[in-house]
Amino acid sequence: MPQTFEHEVVIIGAGPAGMCAGMYAGRAMLNAVVLERGFPGGELLNTELVEDYPGFDRILGSELAQKFADHAAKFGAVFKLGVNVTTLRKRDDGLFETLADNGDAYVSPTVIITAGGTPVKLGVPGELEFAGKGVSYCAICDGAFFRNHTIAVVGGGDAAAEEADFLTRYAEKVYLIHRRNELRASKILQRRAFENPKIEPIWDTVVEGVEGDGKGLVDTLKLRHVKTGAARDLKATGLFVFIGFKPNTGIIAGHVDHDELGYLRTDANMQTSIPGLFAAGDVRAQLTRQVTTAVGDATTATIAAEKYLKSQHDRAARDGGVAA
Ligand SMILES: Cc1cc2nc3c(=O)[nH]c(=O)nc-3n(C[C@H](O)[C@H](O)[C@H](O)COP(=O)(O)OP(=O)(O)OC[C@H]3O[C@@H](n4cnc5c(N)ncnc54)[C@H](O)[C@@H]3O)c2cc1C
Repeated sequence: MPQTFEHEVVIIGAGPAGMCAGMYAGRAMLNAVVLERGFPGGELLNTELVEDYPGFDRILGSELAQKFADHAAKFGAVFKLGVNVTTLRKRDDGLFETLADNGDAYVSPTVIITAGGTPVKLGVPGELEFAGKGVSYCAICDGAFFRNHTIAVVGGGDAAAEEADFLTRYAEKVYLIHRRNELRASKILQRRAFENPKIEPIWDTVVEGVEGDGKGLVDTLKLRHVKTGAARDLKATGLFVFIGFKPNTGIIAGHVDHDELGYLRTDANMQTSIPGLFAAGDVRAQLTRQVTTAVGDATTATIAAEKYLKSQHDRAARDGGVAA
């Protein structure tokens, strides 16, 4: 039987941003809930090692996720796991209604969306098996593991060109594999990439598979030329996939301001164009997406949500009505 729950703050997603928001909401004694479709951790659960979170020069992603969850729970964060949010809408009475796929509804005056995003996958054999063991979707996170290695980047947009260039700080050689014979990336990024002697493009080619070295790490990429159909093996210990990243914003009903890629635009308080709806972490339009930025956003968003609630209550008290 579907139920309706009332909260002051509903937080959608228990990645680093959602767990941090839960912790701040718990400390502020807000009646908040963190809704998560899977387990707490978000992308940290797909990250082998984190070396750039202050205070931890080397920690497993899963271990950092557990620490975040324990910390949030200690300060009173309430998690509801296995709750897949399907729709978020603002009702005419000014309250948000967050609907889950089991029919439950969560009604609240504020929502913090921390649903992150999903890197687009190649969908080839070996890709998921070797994710975190040579296959990566984040150069800034994993580049340092490939010092003096020969690696490949796949993609043709700005991210592929920029990250290929970035990865040459570490790698000895970076193949840039693209299915067409020219990149879509901006000219300046292309020029920078092609002037870099460590980068060698491989045109008109797709990656059809990833194979290991027998010890669980990437060793060989299976390539195919799209025009001739010729197959060949490329020796590489890393494959960075930059063929797109989709913010998880499809649940929002109605218009909310976003950039051309669908990331939510916010003001400095993390509030979106919908009053009372805040966004934090990877779902937000911003320069970079890291654990540090996710928790920074979440801190601001939760404190701003608390102030928003107070202003609503103050206004209701002044008007003699009910806060919405
Ligand atoms: C392979 C990889 C390695 C990385 N390595 C590093 C690193 O070393 N250092 C670093 O700082 N950053 C790293 N990052 C980036 C970092 O993981 C992200 O920036 C960070 O996790 C963003 O946190 P978030 O909470 O915004 O989103 P996410 O971590 O994506 O969490 C979002 C959560 O929302 C949940 N969710 C989504 N939609 C719904 C829904 N409809 N209903 C319910 N729940 C939902 C998801 O299940 C998920 O748990 C890495 C990323 C990747 C992909």
